[in-house]
Amino acid sequence: MAYKGRRAVDPHVVMAEVIGTKQVSPNMMRVTLGGDELDRFTPAGYDQWFRLFLPRAGQDMLRLPTRTSGLWYAEYLTTPRARRPWVRNYTVRAARPDLNELDVDFVLHAGEDDGEEAGGHDAGHGAGHAAGPGAGFAQAAEQGLRVGLLDQGVAYNPRHDHDWTLLVADESGLPAVAGICESLPDDARGVAVVEVPTAADKQEFRAPAGVEVRWVVRSEVAGDDAGQGGTHDAAAHAVPGRAALADLCALDLSGHGGDVYAFTIGESALATGARRHLVGERGVPKAHVDFVGYWRHGKAAPS
Ligand SMILES: Cc1cc2nc3c(=O)[nH]c(=O)nc-3n(C[C@H](O)[C@H](O)[C@H](O)COP(=O)(O)OP(=O)(O)OC[C@H]3O[C@@H](n4cnc5c(N)ncnc54)[C@H](O)[C@@H]3O)c2cc1C
Repeated sequence: MAYKGRRAVDPHVVMAEVIGTKQVSPNMMRVTLGGDELDRFTPAGYDQWFRLFLPRAGQDMLRLPTRTSGLWYAEYLTTPRARRPWVRNYTVRAARPDLNELDVDFVLHAGEDDGEEAGGHDAGHGAGHAAGPGAGFAQAAEQGLRVGLLDQGVAYNPRHDHDWTLLVADESGLPAVAGICESLPDDARGVAVVEVPTAADKQEFRAPAGVEVRWVVRSEVAGDDAGQGGTHDAAAHAVPGRAALADLCALDLSGHGGDVYAFTIGESALATGARRHLVGERGVPKAHVDFVGYWRHGKAAPS
């Protein structure tokens, strides 16, 4: 089966506003965005992602880049720091174009203080533990709060015919895995390995009957597999992605015949480690594996 990924259609920054929030699980907040300008945001399914522009503390006006393609970033950098919005990357969890609405699922991570500016989140949230402008925004998002979105298209992009799909993700990649599974044809086959912090963070989504979704629950795996010896609690707070990588490395994939297309996403060591394992240990051709480091443990996103 071949699938051609796509770039964003006529991308430009559109303004949207928060119309609701829902805590979908202990560590995931769904923010629904709406507004007339969303009719210029073309839903593409799969793991369509976008740049999210968020106001900093004290900014009552959101200064959004007017340039698109790669040029928005140069424009952004020439804006004085105090007037720049925060920029983070997120995935479309669901789109309702008839209503001009998008759902976005934010991991409410506690992060780790890396001593950089973004560690001191100030995107308008109040008391709480979520670290970083993105997570902090979701935790305290109020109706009417305005944000900007710049469509970046779909990253899931098999460039070869393949017989089955392998997805590997931590919870930051759960929206992408759900979107990909919901977009795959009914006769698709494959495996999705998804790590979540707790059993209550598993989500229901439509997946083709031939795609097995394997949940790896960080709080339930042995401490060593999760990257930290010790207590149950320590395992629950271990670095995301380590347990999914351990699960992948131990997984018997011999039942899947034919060529695979693998897509590995999430914490950078998971995305790269999974690719290294598949290419080095399983003999998967490099061109059949795409990997995207979504975030780095201990490092805030750069802007
Ligand atoms: C294409 C793409 C799509 C993405 N889609 C989603 C999505 O739909 N939902 C989603 O939640 N994330 C998604 N991410 C990941 C998200 O962009 C990062 O997690 C981002 O760093 C969050 O920004 P922040 O402001 O909350 O934290 P930052 O200010 O960037 O980081 C603050 C601290 O938190 C840590 N941190 C950041 N993210 C996490 C995490 N998930 N878990 C634990 N610690 C973390 C950092 O290491 C740092 O120490 C996506 C990333 C990419 C590249």
